[in-house]
Amino acid sequence: MRSLVLIGHGSHLNGESAGAVYRYAELLRGRGLFDEVIEGYWKEEPSLRQVLKTTASTDITVIPMFISEGYFTETVIPREMGLGHQGPVPEGGVARVIGGRTVRYTLPYGVHPAMTDVILARAHEALPDASPQDTALIVLGHGTTRNENSSRVIYQNADRLRDSGHFAEVHALFLDEDPKVGTWPEVVKAPRVVVVPFFASEGWHTLETIPEDMGLTGTVTAFPDHPHGPQQVFYAKPVGTHAAVADVVLHLAEEARGAGGQGDPERGHEAAWQTFLERARAGLRVGEVLLTPELGVFELRHMLDEGLPGGELVTLVTPEGVRDRTRVTDGGDHRPVHTLRTLPRGWRAVLNEADLRRAVHYLYPAVVEETYAHSCHALRHTPWATTARRQTGIYAKVQKATPAQVEHVAQEVCSGCLRTRLWAGERLTFTFLDRVPGGLPCAEACTFLVAEVREEVSGKRGAGHGH
Ligand code: SF4
Repeated sequence: MRSLVLIGHGSHLNGESAGAVYRYAELLRGRGLFDEVIEGYWKEEPSLRQVLKTTASTDITVIPMFISEGYFTETVIPREMGLGHQGPVPEGGVARVIGGRTVRYTLPYGVHPAMTDVILARAHEALPDASPQDTALIVLGHGTTRNENSSRVIYQNADRLRDSGHFAEVHALFLDEDPKVGTWPEVVKAPRVVVVPFFASEGWHTLETIPEDMGLTGTVTAFPDHPHGPQQVFYAKPVGTHAAVADVVLHLAEEARGAGGQGDPERGHEAAWQTFLERARAGLRVGEVLLTPELGVFELRHMLDEGLPGGELVTLVTPEGVRDRTRVTDGGDHRPVHTLRTLPRGWRAVLNEADLRRAVHYLYPAVVEETYAHSCHALRHTPWATTARRQTGIYAKVQKATPAQVEHVAQEVCSGCLRTRLWAGERLTFTFLDRVPGGLPCAEACTFLVAEVREEVSGKRGAGHGH
């Protein structure tokens, strides 16, 4: 049995941020090569701290869904996941045994040599008859003086594509370092030019900065008066959103696995879910959700919708449907913490037992595993001081927060959350497994609270600042 875990950044504010990782997870699930494909995020749930607990097998491959190496892939992800590794990840990844699970952590997909094929695919989408006679290719990277790795990958891809002979010229240009993208009219001579942004997703840079710096007006732009004669520029979509990235992920996973054996079902995880299903078969309330068994399937709905005729609710039939419906509040706001009491109403889901597990995982990530561990006295709590000490980068300043400040913020943020703060010394005697629906443990301050404490320390809280 094998689990694949895809790690994304996510966002406390914007629900779109996690979308690309969800899409790749679905593509990879469809390939059927792993028994499960799970997503984990820095700023959403399941969080990096929780995600390993939510995996069902003892053989786990973790892939950072990032375009280049850097702070997140080398510092934040391994630290938060407790991988016992910091710094550059060697080719082939690192492997650790953590709590009986073999966890392999790979390089981010963007540095894999197979990304060259993705660049080529994007170029041909933008200009199907690109030819070595008259077409130049620009591989366009972000580039930054702080991270030489990101530009190295662009140069490596440009070299491979130059050697492939598909184009008359191949150039590596950057937004933030020399050679800058704005210099392209001087360096590119071919009459037709394809520009492929080596970016993870469509966003501010691909939609605004790049077109502005290059003088582009759409997917095809004509420049009649350039120093080397008239030129036409074909602007491709970013590489990171191409479906072929799923193949790159599979290459990475296979290379990391090497001659590794087959995993087994993880016993603690299985015990947690069997306990949950046993309770569910008799009808159960979890958090804000009412779960009712019905002729071999299960119905889930918001507790406040109890008794409403099914016809008045939107019926969902897949775990992904439940996920997408419950990622936003009734007011349309993003829900980075799923246990905040903001579950939207107006839906019901009808699911078989296997899909019920996945739907509950999406509804309340890690809640079944953590609650079961709590009931077995096996859930480790992390006090605030330890969480704060671990923070780096812009979050390091939370170490300066006084206990009173942390408590003040927690009173506001956590009072809207179903979880009980074990990390702050609160006690939880009965859980939803004992039929107390709101009995859910919080073993460690979530990144949402950490971000709010940072705002408090910065004096920005309540001033309309996001994070
Ligand atoms: Fe909920 Fe507070 Fe725990 Fe975050 S820290 S999960 S808001 S109880």
